[in-house]
Amino acid sequence: MKKIIGIMGAMTEEIDGVVSLLSNCKKFSAGMRTYYSGTIDGTETVVVFSRWGKVAAATTVSTLIHEFNITDLIFTGVAGAIHPELRIGDIVIAKRLIQHDMDARPLMNQYEIPLLNQTWFESDVSLIAKATDSINRLLEAKTLHTVISDNALDEFGIISPKLYSGDVASGDQFFSNTGQKNTFHRQLPSVLCVEMEGAAVAQVCYEHGIPFVIIRTISDIADDKSHIDFPRFIEKISSRYSTEIIKHVYS
Ligand code: SAH
Repeated sequence: MKKIIGIMGAMTEEIDGVVSLLSNCKKFSAGMRTYYSGTIDGTETVVVFSRWGKVAAATTVSTLIHEFNITDLIFTGVAGAIHPELRIGDIVIAKRLIQHDMDARPLMNQYEIPLLNQTWFESDVSLIAKATDSINRLLEAKTLHTVISDNALDEFGIISPKLYSGDVASGDQFFSNTGQKNTFHRQLPSVLCVEMEGAAVAQVCYEHGIPFVIIRTISDIADDKSHIDFPRFIEKISSRYSTEIIKHVYS
């Protein structure tokens, strides 16, 4: 079957870099979103800004599935670290995703998705393997140090970024409070980072049998300062990360 890869990014800055990789780029606009389709290294690809939050991201991926017949989905974006080991600039591949604000108790368990009888969604094993190999190559070659200025890397203390894979939690909430972060860590200790789209995209892909992988760069540590770090990280760092990650996935 012919592959058509959907790429979603959670920031317009990230999307711009990935769109620049497309050959024969065509635009399609619907529902306040612009879908850019073309090829990367000969593979049909559609790139779109997810917009923020679970509803927005779920709607966007539905369009990729129904209008563009995507066969695979790659999501790149930023996230706030919850696990104390993670540093700004590290990259997380989500093995499993949970919607941390889903709570239909007492009808079902906390976090359980109604009607699906499950709590976690799993990224596709072969897409995880491909992403892991690509990101390891990127980190080993220190490619990020060549495309991001030393000043910008110093500003965020990014010295030797690491790749993690594990649990990621999504919900309609920007974490910017240390107390809230600590409570969350106690409640879901396996979660590496929080964001606002991944598990919603995962649910829609699961329901349609589309293999997916969610990749997140740590932009902040989800504490009282996260809203300050965040815009500067997006401007200086995250767009470069996404573009390089996608380039390596195709090479
Ligand atoms: N740029 C916007 C905010 C975007 S929402 C602004 O400055 O107004 C935040 C985005 O970053 C979402 O895509 C979310 O998935 C991710 N994110 C990064 N850090 C996060 C955190 N601490 N908590 C929740 N989501 C976070």
